[in-house]
Amino acid sequence: MTCDFLPLAAPGVRTLHPYQPGKPESELRREYGLSDIIKLASNENPLGPSPKALVAVREALAGVARYPDGNGFELKTALSARLNTPIGALTLGNGSNDVLELAARAFLTPEHEAVFSEHAFAVYPIVTQAIGATARVAQANPPDHPMPYGHDPAALLNLINDRTRIVFIANPNNPTGTWLKTAELQTLLEAVPERVMVVVDEAYGEYVEATADCPNALHWLDRFPNLIITRTFSKAYGLAGLRVGYAVSHPQVADLLNRVRQPFNVNSLALVAATAALGDLEHLERSRTLNRAGMQQLQDACRQWGLSWLPSVGNFLCVDVGRSGREMFLELLKRGVIVRPVDNYGLPHFLRISIGSQAENARLIEVLGTVLKD
Ligand SMILES: *Cc1c(COP(=O)(O)O)cnc(C)c1O
Repeated sequence: MTCDFLPLAAPGVRTLHPYQPGKPESELRREYGLSDIIKLASNENPLGPSPKALVAVREALAGVARYPDGNGFELKTALSARLNTPIGALTLGNGSNDVLELAARAFLTPEHEAVFSEHAFAVYPIVTQAIGATARVAQANPPDHPMPYGHDPAALLNLINDRTRIVFIANPNNPTGTWLKTAELQTLLEAVPERVMVVVDEAYGEYVEATADCPNALHWLDRFPNLIITRTFSKAYGLAGLRVGYAVSHPQVADLLNRVRQPFNVNSLALVAATAALGDLEHLERSRTLNRAGMQQLQDACRQWGLSWLPSVGNFLCVDVGRSGREMFLELLKRGVIVRPVDNYGLPHFLRISIGSQAENARLIEVLGTVLKD
């Protein structure tokens, strides 16, 4: 008997394309038989997590027979103190991806629409479509704009109508690295009707330099109750493998997000690791310093090659390689270097390269330099 389950799937799921993650090192090792591999494809912290987080995980390991604290009291208390927000404003997630999905489930239905930009983070269309809601994709800035391929606030606003329930904004955006400046985002927030939730995804917020004028949206929470800010421990805090992120919002919104949350969505090791990581400001500062130097290292190399790149305040650089990024990605793979092609983001001539350690960046530069000469 042959089965076809496709017609049985929920309408949104039928046409859904799953998220394409960065290629894991272990996969490349298996497929190509390579041993000396570097991965600069998922914007992870090359320093790894704070040593304090690792100690906390080791100590908590013996307790894994018990369910985690479903309310994440200690992590929320630490976050609340750090961010100066009430505990009731916080929602914890299994990575911030989880929180993005909670927002979609709490506010979208097949009758409603979500608005986001071209070249925006791939999770927004996935969570929207999975629910059967309609995605409205705003045109991004043109290539000759000072913030090429970045979000265009006017284009986003233009797509808002009576059916809109969520606007997703990544600030800075992944994969482009571009950002909305303080005045732009504030003007946008002022113009969005209060019945439309604005999700500002600050996954890279910890890397942002003050001089970039890329806002910390937390300051606006009192003024805009329809604001949901999402953050993560996967990037600057180096805990991508443990999956922990959070949202900060109006407490009533947090209450709604919590209604659709799995009871134990953040595991006990992730909870203690994130709490400890949050307390290690020195490690965070080291991570920022390393990123700053690596960003310079990579941009210097691009300048020498005559390649341009998109402005970035994250821990990655989207480089215009002037030919098929996918082919270049495969050439680099053969040489043990994993980066990210972004053709699936509508950027076929670009490669997104995560900033690694000094040695990893040097290896990437050497290998990419060789491939560029071929
Ligand atoms: C990496 C990333 C996230 C974080 O995902 P986690 O689920 O927290 O690991 C969220 N948003 C953007 C834009 C990202 O690039």
